[in-house]
Amino acid sequence: MSMNESEQAFNGVRKLINNVCARVCIAEACSLRLAECKREVAVHFPVTMDDGTVKVFTGFRVLHNDSRGPAKGGIRYHPDVTLDEVKALAALMTLKTAVADIPYGGAKGAVICDPKALSQSELERLTRRYAAEITLFIGPETDIPAPDVGTNPQIMAWIMDTFSMGRGYSVPAVATGKPIEVGGSRGRFEATGRGCMITALLAAKHLGINVGEATVAVQGFGNVGAVAAKLLAREGCRLVAVSDSKGGVYNPKGLDLDLLFAQKKETGSIVGFKNGETMTNTELLELQCDILIPAAFEHQLVKANASSVKAKLIIEGANNPITAEADRILGDNGIFVVPDILANTGGVIVSYLEWVQGLQFLFWEEEEVNGYLQRILTKAFAEVLQTSHREKVEMRAAAYVIALRRLASAMDLRGIFP
Ligand code: NAD
Repeated sequence: MSMNESEQAFNGVRKLINNVCARVCIAEACSLRLAECKREVAVHFPVTMDDGTVKVFTGFRVLHNDSRGPAKGGIRYHPDVTLDEVKALAALMTLKTAVADIPYGGAKGAVICDPKALSQSELERLTRRYAAEITLFIGPETDIPAPDVGTNPQIMAWIMDTFSMGRGYSVPAVATGKPIEVGGSRGRFEATGRGCMITALLAAKHLGINVGEATVAVQGFGNVGAVAAKLLAREGCRLVAVSDSKGGVYNPKGLDLDLLFAQKKETGSIVGFKNGETMTNTELLELQCDILIPAAFEHQLVKANASSVKAKLIIEGANNPITAEADRILGDNGIFVVPDILANTGGVIVSYLEWVQGLQFLFWEEEEVNGYLQRILTKAFAEVLQTSHREKVEMRAAAYVIALRRLASAMDLRGIFP
C-alpha cells in the first residue's frame, strides 16, 4: 500500500487512492476528483544575488483538494524538487488532514534551490519574491503554508510579513510554523516528533511491547527524528542507533542523547560520536530492535532491504519512506507499520492549533497545545486500528479508508458547483 519503486510520485498516490476507493465502494466522483490537483501554480522569478548578478528561480504552489476546509501544506526548498513530487506531497496532506479529522484540505509548495548555498539575505529576497508571486493563491481562508525540508520558522516569518505588507495589516494566520514572537504556537517545533512518540507508544501498547525495555533505532537526526528519539528515551525506551546523511552510530547499551545533541551542535553531525560504534544507514535499517523510525527521506525501505528488517514496529516519521514492494514484504513478515499519514501528522495538527490561535489572537500554554495533540492523535490512532480490524487490512490501507470516506462525504454534501 505504498508507492511503486519506479513510478512517478503523484501517480503512486493516485493509484493508492483509486485502489482503496474501489475496494470500499467510494463514489467514482470522489476518486476522479482526487486523481487531479485542483490548482497547480508554477512561478519563475528573479532574485538579485549578493554579488549583484540576477538569477531566475522556479517555484510551485499546488492545492490538491479543499473540500474539507482551507488547504494546508509546507514549502520545501531543495535543488532536486519537482512539480510531480510537490503534487504527491499535496495529495498526502489532503489525506493526513482527513485522517486527523482537522478541517483542512491539502497543499504543498516548493522552490528549486539549495538553501545551504544561499546567504541569509539572498534567502530572504528569494522567499519574499516567491511569497509575492503566490500571494494571490495563499491566505488564512484559502491555503496556508508551513515549513518543510529546507525551510524554517524565519522563512515563515518573512512569508507572513510579505503577505501582511500587501494587506496593510498583520495576518499571522497566513502561515504556520512561525517563531513564537510573531504568532507561532508553543509546542510547534517538537510537534511532528512528539506525534511519532505518541503513535509509537500507542502501537507498542497494542503489540504488547514493554516500552521500558524497548530498543529504538532512528534514521535521520533532524527536526522529526531527533525529537522523536529524545521523547521516546524520556518514556524509558533505549535508543540504540541514530543516523544522519553522513552515517550512523550504534550502542547496544543506549546512546546518551545529551552528548549526541552537543556533538551535533558542535560538528553539525552525529558521525564520529565517541560513545558508540560507527554504523551505516543500511545497517541501521536492518538492526535488531523493537521500534524503527525512518525519519529522513522517502524510499529508504525498498524491495532490496525490506526482508532484512528485524524491527517489530515501524513508525513512518518521514513521508513515503517505504515503497509498495517493501510494504508488502514487511506486511508478509508481520511487521506493524504506522503509516506516514497517521504517524507524522503531529506537525500539521499543531499547525492547525497555531492557525486557530492566530485567528483569535489568543495564545495557549504548551501543556494545552500538547494536550490537544495527544487527544487528536489518540482518537485518530484508535479509529485507524479499529478500521484495520474491521476491514481486515493493514494500518496504511485503514488510514486511507478513513480519509477517503471523510473526503467523499464532504464532497457529496457540498455537491458540484454550479
Ligand atoms: P530535517 O532536514 O530537519 O532532518 C532530516 C535528517 O535526515 C537530517 O538529520 C539529515 O542529515 C538526515 N538525512 C538526510 N538524508 C539522509 C539519508 N540518506 N540517510 C540518513 N539520514 C539522512 O527534516 P525533518 O523536518 O526532520 O523531515 C524529515 C522527514 O519528515 C521528511 O520526509 C519530511 O517531509 C517529513 N516530515 C517532516 C515534518 C516536520 O514537521 N518537520 C512533518 C511531516 C513530515
